Amino acid sequence: MNIRLFKPSIGQEELDNVKKVFDREWLGLGPTVSQFEKEWNDYVGTKMSIALNSATAALHLALMAYKFPRGKKVLVPAITFAATATAVLYNDLIPVFVDVERETSVMDIEDLKRKYTPDCVAVIPVHNGGYPVAMEKLMPFAKEKNLIVIEDCAHCAGGEYLGKKLGTFGDIGCFSFEEKKCMTTGDGGMICSNHVDIIEPLKAQRWVGIDKDTWKRTQTADQADTNEAMHWHYEIALLGYKYNMNDIAAAIGLAQLHKLDKMNLKRRDIIRKYLAGIENLNTIKPIFPYDKNHGAYWYFAIRSEHRDELIVYLKNKGIATGVHFYPLPLQPLFKPYDNGCEVAKEIWKTFITLPSHVDLTDEEMNYIITALQEFDAKK
Ligand SMILES: *Cc1c(COP(=O)(O)O)cnc(C)c1O
Repeated sequence: MNIRLFKPSIGQEELDNVKKVFDREWLGLGPTVSQFEKEWNDYVGTKMSIALNSATAALHLALMAYKFPRGKKVLVPAITFAATATAVLYNDLIPVFVDVERETSVMDIEDLKRKYTPDCVAVIPVHNGGYPVAMEKLMPFAKEKNLIVIEDCAHCAGGEYLGKKLGTFGDIGCFSFEEKKCMTTGDGGMICSNHVDIIEPLKAQRWVGIDKDTWKRTQTADQADTNEAMHWHYEIALLGYKYNMNDIAAAIGLAQLHKLDKMNLKRRDIIRKYLAGIENLNTIKPIFPYDKNHGAYWYFAIRSEHRDELIVYLKNKGIATGVHFYPLPLQPLFKPYDNGCEVAKEIWKTFITLPSHVDLTDEEMNYIITALQEFDAKK
């Protein structure tokens, strides 16, 4: 056996869509990106969505949209992927780490209240592994303190909480379509929001700041002839980046979006089987209390006091594992911002992510569960 930790679930539908892009001979930012944005926007139910080349770019631009003065502070969880906090640094802002809940691994709202100071301008909750942050507690606090809320939804495309799509609780939702995530475009990301006025400028800023629409809007009807001749004209008013999605990625994304609910349900089935398989084990527990009816988890992960030994044990059986995530305050780049977060620094030492990709077979699952049971029996 050789079982991969992550694997994209891709096939004929994606290939057919890419073929259409080839036939059109338009590979860059074009009509397929627009189509993907439209369908994504309808799916999530926001007013505007902007497709990018990554969620890292999405987080960078989402914060940039608010033009916060340099040196203001942004609250981020201690356990997350680096991009949540590097987006803060890209904007010349200061990350303030918030500890996580011992049981769930996501941002602890009580610690958020403790870490808040009046120079905090935004908070980036991360639905880690697809486990939803307690948005019903976070949003009233954010409102009271005038904090902008940018949801990092890199792990929960298609996820819902309290009957509402994740990514629509805060001011802006940022999604990742990197190849390991719930759905993929190879690399890709999406920004969505109901605050059209806030995110509209990002359309130019994802494309080196080039805005063709501004010029069109300022022309009057009797200038129609000039319009024709001036079709090449554009305006650069804002500092932009090269962050756009391209039509090849969007073609893959459209096929993936059409399968997203099905893929999330399949991952939920896999998690159900894992939970049943480890139910009676003494040394291996689920990483957080999975809700068996919650639709969108990115991965299945466990906690074990024998983490390193178990990782090697599984590796020798051909089972790939991972650890999500190394707390950021322990990383050299973020050491200067270390402010405690003792729960995060303790619990991550037990985390192991197991293979839970959509195309995992029953045979592979049973093989992994048996390995976990055998390991546990020896402890
Ligand atoms: C993967 C990930 C990102 C970044 O996504 P990319 O599309 O790879 O840039 C951001 N935040 C979290 C929590 C992630 O896991």
